[in-house]
Amino acid sequence: MLPGRIRCIHVLLLGRTASLFSCEVYPGGPAVGTTNKCRFPCRFVKLWLMKSPQTAFPYYVDWAITHKCNLRCVHCRGMKDSELSTDRAVSLLMEIKGLKPGWLIIEGGEPLMRQDFFSLLRYAHELGLNIFIISNGTLLTKSAIGWFASMGIRIMVSIDSPDPATFERVRRGAELSTVTKAASLCAGAGILDAINFTLSRYNLTQIPELFLLARKIGARRINILGLKPCERYTDQLLSPLEYRQAIEESVRASAETGVRFFFDEPFFTVSVREWGVPYSPDPGGSSITIYDAPGCILGKYLFITPDGDVWPCSFAPLVMGNLNGESLTRVWEKMLRSTRLRRLMDHRARNGYCKNCAHVAECGGCRARAFRLTKDWHGPDSACPLYHKTLSVAATQVSATGVDNFPTICV
Ligand code: SF4
Ligand code: SF4
Repeated sequence: MLPGRIRCIHVLLLGRTASLFSCEVYPGGPAVGTTNKCRFPCRFVKLWLMKSPQTAFPYYVDWAITHKCNLRCVHCRGMKDSELSTDRAVSLLMEIKGLKPGWLIIEGGEPLMRQDFFSLLRYAHELGLNIFIISNGTLLTKSAIGWFASMGIRIMVSIDSPDPATFERVRRGAELSTVTKAASLCAGAGILDAINFTLSRYNLTQIPELFLLARKIGARRINILGLKPCERYTDQLLSPLEYRQAIEESVRASAETGVRFFFDEPFFTVSVREWGVPYSPDPGGSSITIYDAPGCILGKYLFITPDGDVWPCSFAPLVMGNLNGESLTRVWEKMLRSTRLRRLMDHRARNGYCKNCAHVAECGGCRARAFRLTKDWHGPDSACPLYHKTLSVAATQVSATGVDNFPTICV
């Protein structure tokens, strides 16, 4: 069943006192902002007072509001050179609100490069959306940070290395000192949600120093983002053994520094469990992470490109519709009906070693990576550290030559 958010209201009788409790659940998915499916299992509760008028909602919306950027990062995924008009962006915010996502991520490019950025953010705030911004940190002035703080908008700053030379090699055009200063100011203002760290061959050995830097900045959490399809992808992607090293070092560094982390790879949770590595989800992790859904969530959220294409995942270029010609609501409804998308989300439709994996229902493997490396959307995830026979990604990507990240029409 596709996830749709429902509010359950429970009545608890204690002697002569009746108490009401409510919680939000996704049938077949996690509760929002909690680590439980439902605080009071519905099978014990007779009263079902309210069901949302819509049957299904996206977990969240991730909107790249502009392709413009002042940097040239080596792992840039590239975006088409256009953006939605201000009028369409305003009406889109209303449509996003109507879909009741858990939160809205605003990114780019560099989102602060969009000319009407602050007016759009103000409107999103007035609509009551729960907003997170992903920024490269170079344009976060003191006054901008103060403004975000006054709106309760939280920021994730991208820091891909604790070492200035590596940082500047990866995030071409930025200086580490400027970005760490901006991140510290955000932390001081109480709006630094996390540091975003894109894991690649460039920074694999720098994880311990990264955690030390995060602690110095005052960051509570690091989002470790396994590299997803981008320009020069296969040069930078880790092998399965390197993934294992990164996971184990992250767990160790977190224990030593007290900085929490979220490892954004579908195989992370099943891997640490399989290896017996001590890891527990961030107890205060109520922001953009869904600990109850550790595997691939393609199709359960929406990614909007700067020119209005809607994808089922930020790295899976499957065009579900375009917002210059249709509403987001309509695109989401089409997604709910799409048999192709449903099949892609179905772990029973995997090929290769993911098909026979005991963890496939919980993990699913990264579909965007599988397609990028094997040309098969249902293929195996070649970076998986649980698949020990695959010692290097290079050995499994023979068919990757010439595969591009160009969008495909899905529905
Ligand atoms: S083999 Fe595939 S499904 Fe199994 S853990 Fe690895 S990536 Fe996930
Ligand atoms: S396809 Fe990959 S990047 Fe997309 S949601 Fe699944 S695991 Fe994440």
